[in-house]
Amino acid sequence: MSPITGADLIATTLKNLGVRVVFGIVGVPIVEVGEACIAQGIQFVGFRNEQSASYAASAWGYLSGQPGVCLVVAGPGVVHALPGVVNAQENCWPMVLLGGSCETYQRGQGAFQEFPQVAACRPYTKYAFQPPTLDQLPATLTRAFHTSIVGRPGPCFVELPGDFIKASTASLDSMDHDPSASALVIPKPIQPLTTLADPAWVTQAVDCLLGAKAPLVIIGKGAAYARAESAVRALIQYTSWSFLPTPMGKGVVSDVHPQCVGSARSEALKRADVILLLGARVNWMLHFGQQFGFKAKLIQVDISPEEMGRNRPVDIPLVGDIGEVVTQLNDALVSRELPPVSSEFRKLLTPSIHRNQEKLRDLLAEDTVPMTYHRVYNEVKQALGADYHRTVIVNEGANSMDIGRVVFHCELPRHRLDAGTFSTMGVGLGYSIAAKLYYPDQLVVAVMGDSAFGFSAMEVETAVRARIPLIIIVMNNGGIYHGVSPEGYDRLANRHQLPPTALSQDTRYDLVAQGLGAKGYHVCTPEELRQALLDSLKLLGESPQVQVINCVIQPGADQKINFAWSNTGKQARL
Ligand code: ADP
Ligand code: MG
Repeated sequence: MSPITGADLIATTLKNLGVRVVFGIVGVPIVEVGEACIAQGIQFVGFRNEQSASYAASAWGYLSGQPGVCLVVAGPGVVHALPGVVNAQENCWPMVLLGGSCETYQRGQGAFQEFPQVAACRPYTKYAFQPPTLDQLPATLTRAFHTSIVGRPGPCFVELPGDFIKASTASLDSMDHDPSASALVIPKPIQPLTTLADPAWVTQAVDCLLGAKAPLVIIGKGAAYARAESAVRALIQYTSWSFLPTPMGKGVVSDVHPQCVGSARSEALKRADVILLLGARVNWMLHFGQQFGFKAKLIQVDISPEEMGRNRPVDIPLVGDIGEVVTQLNDALVSRELPPVSSEFRKLLTPSIHRNQEKLRDLLAEDTVPMTYHRVYNEVKQALGADYHRTVIVNEGANSMDIGRVVFHCELPRHRLDAGTFSTMGVGLGYSIAAKLYYPDQLVVAVMGDSAFGFSAMEVETAVRARIPLIIIVMNNGGIYHGVSPEGYDRLANRHQLPPTALSQDTRYDLVAQGLGAKGYHVCTPEELRQALLDSLKLLGESPQVQVINCVIQPGADQKINFAWSNTGKQARL
């Protein structure tokens, strides 16, 4: 029976909690924790900046349904990781941030990287705690994991003091055999809880839906997170109701399903008389409910009772797990006679659907050099061929994301990661790395704006070193939203008058990537892009390469900045 250290105890507890991968950056005092994790068979992915590591952990939480773990040093490490914590909070994803800290006996003395971390994390977490003694560390970690996934998922923080990490304790063997012999007990992970909606409300919901002329199901990323796809698909199939996915709710039911009215989004929101909202908040992404018809009835399904009726009065609140609640609805519907679905609603939406689909077809075929966003997406779609629907798409940037959301259809849930509720730019590499680790057999393609790529480009080296194959397409328009025309760029730069949105379009992201050990491609025409895509897919079949395609597109100079989501009709007054 060999003595174990605090670091071993932490790693053993994480292993016990089912952790497979830890994202982070080590340093004093947590190097030993990283090493102990590896000794336990947990993969440690070392990043170049804690920000990306924390984004990776948040995405892992969403994809796996288990808290993504991020391990960082004290002070600046924790501060750099806060973006991922806030991102997880805003998206309702489970995550546990583990931050080192100074020795407990040095607290308050201006110790190395000392910082009020628990206080800093508290506003953004469900639980933030420093275990007061080493023997409480396993229970604290277990509590953090449990809290992170029960109810509405979210991030938690646990502080790991340096003296606890280094301390040597009793042997784990003795604890396993006779827990009472030691104060150190590693608690068993608590099983997830199931929550069902009040049956009386379920009956009312079914009555309401069966009486609707224009029922609309809105499928949010909460439904994707809840792994509710089989129940939701059964509901849509059985009822023939129209549905509309939110950007990350895409794929819970296939985007190419005939009942998907995503191409007539605004019309559908306006015309529906009963809306069944599955795991989406009535926030900016749903225009605070202001686009819903004035008289439309709202049936809201969410795990969080606090969410009910926010921004829009709720007629029927169904609090519970989406998979479970939709199963309750399905069971209740089976025993009832379904009225034939009114074709009126569909008829109202059809012109919009046709108009928008036609418009999209024209945009996809645009044949210009430099290329348009649409043209690039079309080439990517064609190159992926049959694999296109199974590909995990990581999409960030302004136009890159907006257009990608429309052009790329999802057939599978949790196969699209974008900037999400917090509209976070800089998530691309962290998300892509987490996605490929979670889906080792699937192709992960990141399509990012040039600005977005800049936030996390150094993490290309992380992916190369960890042998995580990715294809990254940088939509290089030389700017945030839009760039400056090549003629205008020099003129304005000479006068130090470049607009705040400008970036240098001459930046060779492919060469940057090459310097970091990836393969780079520089493309300016559809033909070059097609060839680069084919080459990169072929290469991927041969070795686990990271590949970056620097795709020069139209700068879109002088175009108005258009952000459809923020069109609320109300203007601030001076
Ligand atoms: P979207 O980005 O698609 O609009 P949101 O992130 O705004 O989605 O909303 C997701 C919602 O899903 C949150 O309100 C969250 O409480 C809820 N949610 C998360 N997990 C579950 C679950 N298992 N069952 C029900 N609701 C859930
Ligand atoms: Mg750009």
